[in-house]
Amino acid sequence: STSMANSEYGYVRNFEQWDALPPSNWIVVRIDGRGFSKLCKKYDFEKPNDKRALILMNAAAIEVVRSLVDIVLAYGQSDEYSFVFHESTTLFERRAAKLATTVATAFTAEYCMQWSSVFPDKPLERPFPTSDGRCVCYPKRKVLRDYLSWRQADCHINNLYNTTFWNMVLKGEMGNAEAEQALKGTVASDKNEILFSRFGINYNNEPLIYRKGTVIYRAYDDHNAHDGNASTSDGKVADPESRTQMEKERKKRMKARVVLEHVDIIGDAFWDARPYILA
Ligand code: ATP
Ligand code: ATP
Ligand code: MG
Ligand code: MG
Ligand code: MG
Ligand code: MG
Ligand code: MG
Repeated sequence: STSMANSEYGYVRNFEQWDALPPSNWIVVRIDGRGFSKLCKKYDFEKPNDKRALILMNAAAIEVVRSLVDIVLAYGQSDEYSFVFHESTTLFERRAAKLATTVATAFTAEYCMQWSSVFPDKPLERPFPTSDGRCVCYPKRKVLRDYLSWRQADCHINNLYNTTFWNMVLKGEMGNAEAEQALKGTVASDKNEILFSRFGINYNNEPLIYRKGTVIYRAYDDHNAHDGNASTSDGKVADPESRTQMEKERKKRMKARVVLEHVDIIGDAFWDARPYILA
């Protein structure tokens, strides 16, 4: 309150660090489950992929996207989710700590509150699941695309490894150390071959949710409905006079459908078909 700010103690506010992120950058907030490996063991998650655990991650993430209209897209895999804020966002004056903590706590609250509907047979106990969160700025669409490709490539590499490893352990009756040793130095084609010849699994037929992760985005049925952002075409940040324009834009975003898909986002096809996402 005003009285506190004006008190003799008010000077301590000057010790705060101003952490606003630079303008005209895409802001990614990536959250990651803390000690998720322990959580997997505690609740006896299926290996390599517990379907219900992924469904819960996605259910939490979709609510985060719904509640923050400046998020244009989110990508999730394993115990992590990346939320992409439009380059023009002015949320919290782009202050990094406010953005990261708001996303991480919103996600954590949803994850815990929805737990019992996904795992009615596994009551949630302390220590409750939490996530850390960080902000990273990407100055160009191309670099943002590369960031998202990096996460989806990570999903693919880990899932191919984990699928092979757990088949060797669970069906091949190998010890963990033995399977790890056998996979040392193998490349993707070796793992595909092991899966096919020893376990009759064609990796390409594994569910898309495991191989590709999950993409959530605001979809606009009418392509004209989403006319860009608060930045002007020459890249300058719009002046406050266009506030009514920004308010219009905000309303459009609130009306947009929020869509969830398990699809490739490394190639151009996804983006070419949905040019409004990074408009
Ligand atoms: P911001 O998102 O900017 O933080 P805010 O609405 O949360 O906006 P704060 O400056 O954080 O605003 O102030 C919190 C408000 O909640 C104050 O008006 C305060 O009086 C009220 N409040 C906090 N705790 C209580 C409480 N236990 N009972 C009644 N009112 C409360
Ligand atoms: P940290 O606190 O450093 O993040 P962590 O134990 O959470 O530690 P991560 O590197 O984040 O470690 O890895 C997450 C772990 O959770 C991986 O081993 C991954 O295989 C596992 N995991 C995530 N989602 C699932 C799932 N749906 N089913 C089974 N295992 C999962
Ligand atoms: Mg307060
Ligand atoms: Mg980690
Ligand atoms: Mg983790
Ligand atoms: Mg992780
Ligand atoms: Mg407050």
